[in-house]
Order: sequence, then structure tokens, then C-alpha cells
Amino acid sequence: MAQLNIYLNRLEHNLNFLKSISPDKNSLIGVVKANAYGHGIIEISKKLVSMGVSRLSVASVSEGKLLRENDINCNIIVYYPDPFELNDIINYSLEPAIYSKRILKKIIKLLDKSKRDFSVHLKFNTGLNRLGFKFEDIEWVIKKIDKARLRVLSVYSHLSASEDKKNNLNTKKQLKIFNEIKSKFYDLNSEIKYHLLNSSGIFNYPEHQYDWVRSGISLYGYSNNSDWDKNLLPVAELKTKIIQIHNVKKGECVGYNNGWIAKKKSKIAIIPIGHADGIGRYFKNRNVTVKINQLKAPIIGNICMDIFMIDVSHIQCKEWDEVVIFDQKNPANIFAESAGTISYEILSSLGNRIKRVYIS
Ligand SMILES: *Cc1c(COP(=O)(O)O)cnc(C)c1O
Repeated sequence: MAQLNIYLNRLEHNLNFLKSISPDKNSLIGVVKANAYGHGIIEISKKLVSMGVSRLSVASVSEGKLLRENDINCNIIVYYPDPFELNDIINYSLEPAIYSKRILKKIIKLLDKSKRDFSVHLKFNTGLNRLGFKFEDIEWVIKKIDKARLRVLSVYSHLSASEDKKNNLNTKKQLKIFNEIKSKFYDLNSEIKYHLLNSSGIFNYPEHQYDWVRSGISLYGYSNNSDWDKNLLPVAELKTKIIQIHNVKKGECVGYNNGWIAKKKSKIAIIPIGHADGIGRYFKNRNVTVKINQLKAPIIGNICMDIFMIDVSHIQCKEWDEVVIFDQKNPANIFAESAGTISYEILSSLGNRIKRVYIS
């Protein structure tokens, strides 16, 4: 009964805004990994391509394959390719991000066998210390790609704190290293593109946009900063219905492990969405609220797999009334933060039982 309404006109608004603050209108890479942050990878990708986005990016080879199987023919970067799925990368014309010596060697070996030229992106670690070649690897990398049938389309890195206070020490260091990397590759091939910024970075560091920018969360309406958020529209609204109402006496328990005990005579409502749908167990007793008839009702007790309970003692309501988990007025980032997490996690965890409805 839970439904995610996805407003494609808001996606369009966000894309247009992001384009207006990007280096040029073709520089934006649409990030559609994790089922387009829960919004539905096929529909969102089709809409982005129809609005002129020429390069999408995903995390895994399987996501890239899914796009190809659904006739999405634009350029597709795979950020975290499984080295054992490189054959699929070649067969589906995906563009892998290469981030280690070992994976570079493996892909060169494969290409020598297939006798095909191949486009890749090189990922450098400048201080996030997640994935990427080290600065010291540059000479080795340049030598290797010079001899191989590889076309390097771009060289990129990722900031560790793009939404944090501007020009913190680590970010400054990352920028300096990235500029040095750029100058080394520039001498080799002036066609290569450079990119560093994710959504928050686009807002926070307009002076360091290089050639391309990569936007995920802001396409969907969030930026990790309430001032920047004013320029964006939350794309998705999650709604469901009360499926039953119970009156409980003072001292009665609600839910598994007696997770909530009525301090007074109470009215509770049963909501058909649970941890299998992305509302994790950590929502318990944090005073996270949803809305019924414009009024806030707190989630109570342990979240079950398919159900959670709310306290509606103070609300006039009946079975089958609408429950708003998040919408434009009560956005997903606020809902997420009240439970101690972030919009990214809530949105990308929304399970596939939730019906997606696209509104244009
Ligand atoms: C997921 C991802 C992004 C998108 O980040 P947002 O904060 O959602 O814009 C950008 N770059 C890389 C490498 C990513 O993995």
C-alpha cells in the first residue's frame, strides 16, 4: 500500500538549476546508481537522457547492464567495476573507472586479447582514502596507458568534505594534489577531461568545477545544506495508509519485545511499511514523526519487517487515512536526520515493494 510518487517535472527543475551553475550545459554527469537513489533507475535515466544529459554513472556493472538492456544508449561510467565482470564492461560498452594498478593491468590484458580500443576514466585518491591511484602512481599509470589500447576520457577524484565549511585543510590539500595530477596528464593529452565535484561541491566550490561535475543527490532535490536546498525541489513523496487502529490501555505493550509501553490510555495506528522497505530498526523511539491530516505522529516501538506503529492519541483519524512519510513540505532529509541518518540512506534503501508512480 506504500507508494512513492515521483515528480519528473521537479527532476527537470533540479537538472536545469544544476546546469545553470555548472561549467557548461553539457558538463553534468547524472548519477543514477542505487536505483537512482531509490527513484527507479530506468525511468529516471530515460528522463535525464531525454533532457539532454549525455553521460550517466552507476556503481556496478549490473546497473550498467540493466540500463543497456532497457535501450539507454548514452555514455555510462561504472564507478566501482568488479574486476571479474570486465567482459560485461566490454560487451555492454560501459566506461569503467580504473582505480588500481591491479585492475588496470587486468583490463589491458583483456583488451590485448579482444583487439579493441576502449574508453576509461582514471580515479585518483587525493585524500578521501577510499578508492583511487596514489599521486605517486602517476608515472607508472601514464607509461602503462601510453602503450595500451586505452582512451582516457577523464581523470577524476572525490572530495571528502564537499558540504563542510569551505576550504578546510584537507579539501585544500585535495585541490592542490588534483591540480598537480591535472598538469601531469595535460602534458600527455590535452583532450582529457577533469572532474572533482559531487552535488554539494557544485554549490560550495563553483571556482573548482574543472570540465565536468557529478550530481546525484541534488538531482533528487537535496544538497546537504538548507540554504542550497532552497534552489531544489524534492522529487519523491512517500505515502501510505493506516491499515488498522487500536485503543490500548495504560501499561499495555506495543510491538515486538514490548518495545513501547503505553503511559496512558492511547490510540495507535498500524502502518504497512517496515524494515524490509527501508525503514530501519534504528527508527525506534527517537521521536521520528510522520504526518496524518497535517498533524505529527511519532513512530513507536520496534519497527517490524512490514509494519510500524505510530501514536495517534492526539489525532482525529480513521483506518485508510493517508500517512505522509515524507513529501515536499516534510522532506526526506529531515525525516532521515531525525532518525540519525541522511537522505542518501533513506532514499536508496526504499525497497522494491514500494510502488513507484511517475508524475510528469
Ligand atoms: C555517488 C557518487 C557521486 C554522487 O554524489 P552526490 O553527493 O549524490 O552528488 C559522485 N561521485 C562519485 C564517485 C560517486 O560515487
